[in-house]
Amino acid sequence: MTLRLRSGQAPAVFLDRDGTIIENVGYLRRLDQIALYPWTAGSIRALNQAGLPVVVTTNQAGVARGLFTEAFVEKTHRELTKRLAAGGARIDAYYHCPHHPTEGTVAEYAIACECRKPGRGLVDRAARDLGLDPAHSFVVGDSWIDIGMARAAGARGILVGTGAGADEERSMRPPDLAADAIVDNLAAAVSWILLNLKSEI
Ligand SMILES: [Mg+2]
Ligand SMILES: [Zn+2]
Repeated sequence: MTLRLRSGQAPAVFLDRDGTIIENVGYLRRLDQIALYPWTAGSIRALNQAGLPVVVTTNQAGVARGLFTEAFVEKTHRELTKRLAAGGARIDAYYHCPHHPTEGTVAEYAIACECRKPGRGLVDRAARDLGLDPAHSFVVGDSWIDIGMARAAGARGILVGTGAGADEERSMRPPDLAADAIVDNLAAAVSWILLNLKSEI
């Protein structure tokens, strides 16, 4: 059952994809490059059991760069759903940004959009579709742009050390941005969320 706030909206967990739930392979272009971390299914299952909607929000500028199509992104997500189901875990929805403002080679995607992280467009779309409350939600990602999206949406942001995370933490932290927690991986992020959720409901 989905947890509801008094407003009737639900708190949710927004997960980055590459480097957070699967290994970061640069631009993923083949299904055989999909590698879930060993703790991913169990972590997502724990969120499912807590009644928290789980939403993947991912920048996929490879579409704008002409490296793969949106149909491939969707196919990747169907494959992820299948593999997670085998581990008893469910992602409630996927949202991706196919755009890039300056480096796109495919005209329709080579635009400045509102959905590219750290913008909050993907969160807003999910919130409308699923009845979520971003201000009571959590974002988990391996990049400062994920934390930026959390800030923009009024959610709490947790930086993981997998994927780009460890490097980002060391070298690229924007001076005006802080994560609410910096943890090793998605499993630790989920523990943090479940602990801190109690103060929300
Ligand atoms: Mg990432
Ligand atoms: Zn976009």
